[in-house]
Amino acid sequence: MDCDKVKELLPLYIDDGLSDDEMKAVSEHLADCSQCIEEYEHLKNIAAACKDLGFPAPPPDYKERVVAAVERDSKKQRKGMFGAAAAVIAAALLVFISISSIGDVTGINAVANSLSDIEQQAQTAPSQNQAFTESDSFMGDESRAVSEATGSSPGEEGMASITEAPQSNDKADQDTSTEEAPDTSKSAEQNLAIASANAEQRKIIKSAYLSLETDKFDSTVNSIIGRATALGGYVSNSEYNNRNEGKRTAHIEIKIPQQSFEQYLSDMGGYGKVVEDRRSGQDVTAQYIDTETRLKMLKIKEERLMELLSKAETLQDMFTIQDQLTNTQIEIERLTGDLKRWDDMVSYSTAIVDIYEVAKIEPEPEDNPNMWQRIGKAFIGSIKAIGRFFEGFVVFLFGAVPYIVLIGILAWGVVTFLKSKRNV
Ligand SMILES: [Zn+2]
Repeated sequence: MDCDKVKELLPLYIDDGLSDDEMKAVSEHLADCSQCIEEYEHLKNIAAACKDLGFPAPPPDYKERVVAAVERDSKKQRKGMFGAAAAVIAAALLVFISISSIGDVTGINAVANSLSDIEQQAQTAPSQNQAFTESDSFMGDESRAVSEATGSSPGEEGMASITEAPQSNDKADQDTSTEEAPDTSKSAEQNLAIASANAEQRKIIKSAYLSLETDKFDSTVNSIIGRATALGGYVSNSEYNNRNEGKRTAHIEIKIPQQSFEQYLSDMGGYGKVVEDRRSGQDVTAQYIDTETRLKMLKIKEERLMELLSKAETLQDMFTIQDQLTNTQIEIERLTGDLKRWDDMVSYSTAIVDIYEVAKIEPEPEDNPNMWQRIGKAFIGSIKAIGRFFEGFVVFLFGAVPYIVLIGILAWGVVTFLKSKRNV
């Protein structure tokens, strides 16, 4: 089964809506493919993540300033009551448009443009090892973008206020940029350090798929779950069914603290016959650090947008900045969620265990039995065969009792008949 097929089946897999064979195939694929297991975790977490997605409150005096701006705008174009009403309706429309995020319908200005450029760069920043060399130039681009924003569009109406805001802070902005440049290269050094550091510092997502046969189904399931709990783990998902001729099966997904994972897996042999054991690990250190960097950039962007918003005076500027701010905050939430998901997946490894009930565990065939073992085996085999023969004979005898009785009666009848005939 390939990744596309697995990703297609994942929603059904999560709902236990697949056939046994498909469930098994997906489980096996998940154990081998960290990309798909990541996708799987992602799907499971989506609902929770959506619930957590909240929007920070606007600045405290935001409402007052919107009202003030509406009044200013309406004064400007006041032509009797009708003009004022039109301005208020227009303002309401702007609020609606900005809330429903239809797009940058509201006057796109230089600040918004340069900020969305930054955002695009943040989104398209490669997620591999070049992240750091890229983010250095990305950093440079941003300060360029800010200076573009400060210097541009002198003719546009309503822009004066918004271009003033960064200008008054121009020096501070450049200071933070030059302060951050070495900061970024410092984390690049950290990245190198982490790349060559010991395994404990790396972000590795570990998973395993095991398939067990057992003739003591209940105690096997209890041991597997009990051991997980004892090690500080938990069952994240489990399904039981009885589909195969009264033989039970269980599908259990278990999260185990990473430091105890190997120990846990090696204990499995004690709970049943391990038929399959596949393990995989995915190193997400590079993506993790890349995401952290992008998150840092977006937080800087958020701060600057907040600053711009607090100084914006026209409605148009406010809504444009608010729009950018909302998008930035959504992206921050998303990246924060990614980091949290990685943290969870790294600190807790995943074991997917399928348990099959069987009538009797077949003993492992011995590879090279010596002569005495062979003699012993043959001897025991013969005894067993003799035993089975007598067993069969006794069963046959008891089974045949009605026939024997019937034949006896018939024989007795015939003999009596013949005797009586001879006597006559
Ligand atoms: Zn895959």
